[in-house]
Amino acid sequence: VRRTAVGVVGAGPAGLVLANLLLERGIHCVVVEKESRAHCEQRVRAGLLEEPTVSLLDRHGWAGRLRAEGMEHRGTELRYEGRRFRLDYQALVGRTMWVYPQQELVSDLITSFVEGGGEIHFEVPDAAVHDLASDRPRLTFGEEELVCDVVAGCDGFFGISRTAVPSAAQTVFDRHHEFGWVAVLAAVAPSTDEIVYSLGPHGFAGHMLRTPSVSRFYLQCPPGDPIERWSDDRVWSELHLGLATDDGWTLREGPILEKNVVEMRSHVVEPMRFGRFLLAGDAAHIVPPVGAKGMNLAIADACVLFDATCRLLDAGDESGLDAYSATCLERVWRVQDFSMWMAWMLHPLPVDHPDRAYALRRSTAQLRYLETSEAYQRQFAENYVGFPLAVDV
Ligand SMILES: Cc1cc2nc3c(=O)[nH]c(=O)nc-3n(C[C@H](O)[C@H](O)[C@H](O)COP(=O)(O)OP(=O)(O)OC[C@H]3O[C@@H](n4cnc5c(N)ncnc54)[C@H](O)[C@@H]3O)c2cc1C
Repeated sequence: VRRTAVGVVGAGPAGLVLANLLLERGIHCVVVEKESRAHCEQRVRAGLLEEPTVSLLDRHGWAGRLRAEGMEHRGTELRYEGRRFRLDYQALVGRTMWVYPQQELVSDLITSFVEGGGEIHFEVPDAAVHDLASDRPRLTFGEEELVCDVVAGCDGFFGISRTAVPSAAQTVFDRHHEFGWVAVLAAVAPSTDEIVYSLGPHGFAGHMLRTPSVSRFYLQCPPGDPIERWSDDRVWSELHLGLATDDGWTLREGPILEKNVVEMRSHVVEPMRFGRFLLAGDAAHIVPPVGAKGMNLAIADACVLFDATCRLLDAGDESGLDAYSATCLERVWRVQDFSMWMAWMLHPLPVDHPDRAYALRRSTAQLRYLETSEAYQRQFAENYVGFPLAVDV
């Protein structure tokens, strides 16, 4: 049996930001991760970082490679009915965003933690949490038993943490959506300098950027559509159609490296704290990826969790733990709303849905308003670039 201040389950963005903050502050923590280090460093997922996330990484010296290899973005493009317009969020709210693949950020954070002497265990299949409501929650794995002051459940939507809290102590909000995404990664230089969100004749089509030679694309599909229905030829022809503009813009094609169907879901667990056990990131909430918010939200939670833990360990002050859930959930619900606002604007209902024609007209009206109203653009911009973090860390 060993003591540690904080047991961290999961080495995704939430767990790693928390662990690095703790290490920097001289607070002992142990991270346990189910997958191998190589797996974590190669898992392709998010890529758009809000300004508050980048500033945080900068302040702590974790943004070196991001600044050198990432791409700074000042605006985004929207398309509908063959038209296109640019939303210059830097001009609107004075802030920019960065594109940097999640796996690269995860890799940087693992390196920083390991080089700083942090303790992290990979390929741990059997992490379990115990005595969560007590002052000494425990984290066990293999032969190890860690008695902790706080346990942080940062193991994503499919980890053990989300379901470790007795269901009577939680309220779960869960909504499946009428659409999914075919997510495609292709070895081709981007055909755009900025992210493109398009409402095409068959629904949403998105062109995201990853690196100068790799691009990300998304296409709307029915939920649970088998990927076998999406041959490479079909993917490219739907992308050409969905992203087409009247002004002759062209899409470059390249070998498809990866494609899969992404389920769209909104999910929130309340509260995010149970005694000394705190949930952070996807373990507590999921948003449809259209607003590109999940990773940013996970990192924002980690900062609040860190602040609450410091107050507890420095002075026995539990006020941070008490406020943890409400503080995080304020941002979570803002992001839920913004992500769904974007999702409904850009994803028509299925062809056989009785409200499809109505919803499509409404989406078009929203896009037209967004194209022409600075007031509407400003609300988009302020949500998109991200609100300041709730704590100063
Ligand atoms: C296609 C797609 C595109 C996305 N695009 C964006 C975007 O552009 N911007 C954005 O902000 N977000 C985006 N997201 C969401 C983002 O990837 C997640 O919200 C983010 O990874 C959440 O971080 P996390 O640390 O909470 O969880 P995770 O990244 O899921 O990390 C959890 C970790 O816990 C580990 N784990 C799981 N179970 C256990 C266990 N039992 N024991 C120990 N460890 C365990 C996992 O292996 C993993 O390493 C996207 C997601 C998808 C699927």
